[in-house]
Amino acid sequence: MAKNSLLVVLLALCFASTNLSGCFGNDFELFEKSRGIPGGLTLACLSSAEFTSMVIEIDYDSGYAPESSSTDLLKTRLEDVCDKPDGIEIKLTETNFDHSGQWSAGDVREQAWEQKSSDPQSGTTLFWQALFPAGEYVEDGVLGVAVDASTIVIFKDSVEDAKGPIFGRPSAEEIENSVLVHEFGHLLGLVNLVYVSPVDHEDKDHPGHSNNEESVMYWAVESGDIGNIISGQLPDEFDQDDLDDLSGILSGDIESYDQLWTP
Ligand SMILES: [Zn+2]
Repeated sequence: MAKNSLLVVLLALCFASTNLSGCFGNDFELFEKSRGIPGGLTLACLSSAEFTSMVIEIDYDSGYAPESSSTDLLKTRLEDVCDKPDGIEIKLTETNFDHSGQWSAGDVREQAWEQKSSDPQSGTTLFWQALFPAGEYVEDGVLGVAVDASTIVIFKDSVEDAKGPIFGRPSAEEIENSVLVHEFGHLLGLVNLVYVSPVDHEDKDHPGHSNNEESVMYWAVESGDIGNIISGQLPDEFDQDDLDDLSGILSGDIESYDQLWTP
């Protein structure tokens, strides 16, 4: 598909689906070329041809640090799919976001790029970033959003509200674990954000998401209803179809689009 026609399709999807807009932000800045779209640095992560190490920069408001179980899990999941022989490091920084009230995708991008310690492509290191601010997203019940090729946000207040009604299961911590991996899954281009999978595993009613409730990319994972939809064990890993998509992208068997870096 030509780049322009993909853009048109993405724009059409954005306007057609509140779930998609909740997930990926919904204004035109999303397409600002230098910052890319979620999935724009997929090859930079999967391949070690240029970036041999990776830093996950986490900027959080006081009292909003991620659970260590969330960052440990994220590191493990990324290590499974991204070839980084010099390691993946989590760098936590307490900050004070210059923001009050609800957050739009544009607000997240603006604050993120002010806080970024390095350009996403810095020498041989790839920098991805997660914000953990106080406050909520402009759309009700959105727990996390991927806003460009290197940036995601998690709304801990909304995660807390989403915990299950029965004995608090799933717990807020379990939900945070899954949502953090889910949003970074979008930075890896899942599902069908920057490629077309040969396997039909994208949920037809929730573009960009898996139809398999065993996958962390299952559509309900970032939804405020998650505690009602899944009362048992939450998915916190990529399923075989997700993993096959990523290895196909890396090998070139699956064509990828909108990449900010290619080997
Ligand atoms: Zn999502």
